Amino acid sequence: MALAKVLLERGVAVDVVERRAEGAPELGAGLYLPANAVRALDAIGVGDEVAEYAAPVTRQRLHDHRGRVLTEFAVDRIWGDVGPCLAMARGELHTVLRDAVDGTAVRYETEVHAVTDDGTVTFSDGTGGAATPTSTAPLPPLRPATGAHCSPTSPARFPPSPAGRARRRD
Ligand SMILES: Cc1cc2nc3c(=O)[nH]c(=O)nc-3n(C[C@H](O)[C@H](O)[C@H](O)COP(=O)(O)OP(=O)(O)OC[C@H]3O[C@@H](n4cnc5c(N)ncnc54)[C@H](O)[C@@H]3O)c2cc1C
Repeated sequence: MALAKVLLERGVAVDVVERRAEGAPELGAGLYLPANAVRALDAIGVGDEVAEYAAPVTRQRLHDHRGRVLTEFAVDRIWGDVGPCLAMARGELHTVLRDAVDGTAVRYETEVHAVTDDGTVTFSDGTGGAATPTSTAPLPPLRPATGAHCSPTSPARFPPSPAGRARRRD
């Protein structure tokens, strides 16, 4: 749906299908949105809506399969000025994105049955056809989610691998 929003704003017709029913219980629970995800959501125009639902994540703690702490660090040590990290319920992110696109852009209980090499799609409701571009204008490039702060020569920001430092105790 994030892609649908961006394409619709650029004048490209979209047809989003979802095999599940509208309002079906969400799969999954919470989502951690690292700073580049938060930045990408902001760039597509849903940053304020996401912020309404989300809670800040300031520290990250990694555990092994027995729950023992492997490492813990402040997330701004990694993300720096890329921006804040957030957490929100998966269903709430879906709501934000669904509200951000034209509701008619999503057809529920419709499954993609087949896609051929020439772009012809067949749906479970018997509809389908070849995808035809509605705009021939070149699309402007999206800003890289990590902005100007990241380059191939940027120093590594992640701490050393926890796996490399953890001693096996069982
Ligand atoms: C346990 C777990 C925890 C995760 N935690 C995080 C996290 O904290 N932070 C994070 O950023 N990412 C997390 N991820 C990854 C994240 O969930 C995925 O990257 C993200 O959901 C991908 O989004 P998507 O829209 O591409 O696919 P999906 O969210 O999988 O959506 C695909 C949709 O397409 C529908 N569909 C599938 N096949 C068809 C078909 N043939 N016809 C019609 N509809 C179809 C499905 O029903 C589904 O609704 C996690 C993943 C898992 C499994």
